[in-house]
Amino acid sequence: MIYKEYGKTGKKVSAIGFGGMRFPDSYSIEEAAEVVRHASRLGINYFDTAPFYCHDRSEDIMGEAFKDMPNPFYVSTKSGLGNEPDADAVRKRIENSLRRLGLSKITFHHMWCIMDLAHYRKVIAPGGPYWGALKAKEEGLIEHLVFSTHATGEEIAIMVKEGYFEGVTLGYNIANFPYRQVGVQAAYEAGLGVVTMNPLGGGLIPQNEEYFSFIKDRENESITQAALRFNVSHEAITVTLAGMGTIEEVEHNVKATENLEILSEAKILEIKSKLKNDMNQLCTTCQYCKKCPKDIDIPVFMELYNMNVLKGLEATQQKYAELKDWNIIKAEDPMPKDCIACGKCEKLCTQHLDIIARLKWLEVNL
Ligand code: SF4
Ligand code: SF4
Repeated sequence: MIYKEYGKTGKKVSAIGFGGMRFPDSYSIEEAAEVVRHASRLGINYFDTAPFYCHDRSEDIMGEAFKDMPNPFYVSTKSGLGNEPDADAVRKRIENSLRRLGLSKITFHHMWCIMDLAHYRKVIAPGGPYWGALKAKEEGLIEHLVFSTHATGEEIAIMVKEGYFEGVTLGYNIANFPYRQVGVQAAYEAGLGVVTMNPLGGGLIPQNEEYFSFIKDRENESITQAALRFNVSHEAITVTLAGMGTIEEVEHNVKATENLEILSEAKILEIKSKLKNDMNQLCTTCQYCKKCPKDIDIPVFMELYNMNVLKGLEATQQKYAELKDWNIIKAEDPMPKDCIACGKCEKLCTQHLDIIARLKWLEVNL
């Protein structure tokens, strides 16, 4: 395993992080905890979880594993979603996470899912969620205060320069990296740890294996390993989170770090030039469309629609249920039915997607 410095925290973290959002429903808490311990045996020391993951079992599974971990570890969890709008709500969530994890301290605590610059301003406003987490940090319940975001690269660049956080977790992969690169680089230069999530593009990359095969440059390498290696080998990226639910997945993902070379600027440019127009059926989650007058979270719904392009109705419905479980889509949120077909988003879409028609499809089929 390769280890990298997490920003200025003094922590050396594994280049592959354990994403605790993929435990199979059929596993007992103890069976799932054994997967976590196996990752620890193979050198992973960054474990990411959150309330609501895996039907709200993920933190309990991690807590069970942590009772008997083979090696030292760091844990990352989250609070501050829309239903935790202030400092008090965040404080309660942190106490709850600590109890479930069986720990006295959270290593990396995220202000969760900051959607854009306006949302970021609300999080750090006086009395807002940030201040509940900061107080918990001052009391020793949190070591490092970080944030996760779905904002554009340019917006992330503004956030990381303001100095509120020690690290950032953001979606970055072979399909969307041109839109996030500015944010990754700015965070790195500002001395933040950079954790990338969604390295497989929500399944988009393995499900388009033929198209993405140009990123493989080793014999017998799977597309998943090549996609992970793309992130891991990036100098500015500290941890690449991979969702793992089984022992086999842990072993497969750890292999991506073997004999790693840092990706050169020339190789990145070469890959960029190969991302061809036939991606134009799929949303890359670049976030450039997020100016909806009805506040519809278009990237979330378009990523959901990717499932329909790739796998059809049933997989889309399954994914929708998962997003609701994780509170990423909440009952009170603006929904596809709220679209007034103003066309603003379609003008901004980098992939020229027919967003209005896709929202209509989701409205009818979900
Ligand atoms: S067309 Fe619909 S989704 Fe797009 S910006 Fe207008 S209201 Fe929002
Ligand atoms: S709908 Fe278009 S602009 Fe919006 S996130 Fe997807 S690809 Fe980007």
